[in-house]
Amino acid sequence: MTTTSKDPNREPKLLLGPGPSNVHPDVLEAMAQPMIGHLDPDFLKILDRVQVRLRALFGTTNPMTLPLSTTGSGGMEACFGNLLEPDDEVVVGVNGVFGNRMCDVANRIGARVTRVDAEWGRVLDDDAMSDAIRRVRPKAVAFVHAETSTGVHQPVEAISRAAHEIGAFVILDCVTSLAGLPVRLDDWGVDAAYSGTQKCIGCSPGLSPASFSPRAVERAGNRTIPCTSWYLDINLLAGYFGGERVYHHTAPISAIFGLDAGLRRIEQEGMAARVARHRDAAEALIAGLAEFGFEPLVEPAHRLPMLSSVRLPASVKKLGEAAVRRKLLADHAIEVGGGLGALAGEIWRIGLMGENARRENVARLLDALRKELG
Ligand code: PLP
Repeated sequence: MTTTSKDPNREPKLLLGPGPSNVHPDVLEAMAQPMIGHLDPDFLKILDRVQVRLRALFGTTNPMTLPLSTTGSGGMEACFGNLLEPDDEVVVGVNGVFGNRMCDVANRIGARVTRVDAEWGRVLDDDAMSDAIRRVRPKAVAFVHAETSTGVHQPVEAISRAAHEIGAFVILDCVTSLAGLPVRLDDWGVDAAYSGTQKCIGCSPGLSPASFSPRAVERAGNRTIPCTSWYLDINLLAGYFGGERVYHHTAPISAIFGLDAGLRRIEQEGMAARVARHRDAAEALIAGLAEFGFEPLVEPAHRLPMLSSVRLPASVKKLGEAAVRRKLLADHAIEVGGGLGALAGEIWRIGLMGENARRENVARLLDALRKELG
């Protein structure tokens, strides 16, 4: 008798929150392939291919570009943990939850953190960042490309230039941007970047694609004390993800099968078409939501295409925003995200990420809202 763990009562849900997003059947099918060993030449061929495709996606030739066996937060810890030591100075741009998380991670390493805050919903101010960089002369400068807590798209180049003028490393969070917006690490001078597979890449959560410039790898090799995380130390990870393929930890085989399939879909679609698809879906969403009185939190020039944050109209607040979201999920099988921190109860965060960035999904959400809000 064959058995299946599939729950027949579980309807597929449309995931229009801040991630995870829905996963294409090709990815699910790839993840269901029979297990093979992580040192099997057949698996290593796939890993090679994944690394090549990740370099293309990140816009880099960095040899140290790899799928870390962790989520986006682990990627953040890897970037900070390999580049910073106790008492190193770091300047962090903070305009949302994930900039805050960066400060927390850096503090735990024992680094000296200088925060440059901007109002949530606005971009970081280039001049404020440059002033802090020139004053503090930090070892690293860190900020978030796509702030998922607010929907802000942060320009990278001016801050990166200011960092390089004083020889600092640039750390960039690309968790939500990668595969939905152009990312060009080499052109921008980014030294360490990390992402997550569950957003615009359109795979399951659990991997953090990351990339380290040769200068960052050299820094990791010349530390006075070892990276405090054995698991995320890129000097050790290089043994497996570099040329030699010697055991470090057991690679998450099925997740990498899935990532391979997800990256193949991205390659087939082409980044220009994918970026345009994300933008088109976001425009349709913002236009459609106006009917109900939702207003974008972020000014047009700095809105993310894959994550729209919208202020709630009185009709939604009256019904209780969390209650409306619960109804969308229970009665329409659609998930949308609420606000975080000071924006809790004030905004929704609607994701159109990866496979989900399509007008038909926007139409489904608007239909459901019409039923719920009249
Ligand atoms: N950075 C950003 C911008 C994010 O949106 C997220 C997750 O939503 C993270 C970091 C943390 O990623 P994870 O939840 O995969 O650990």
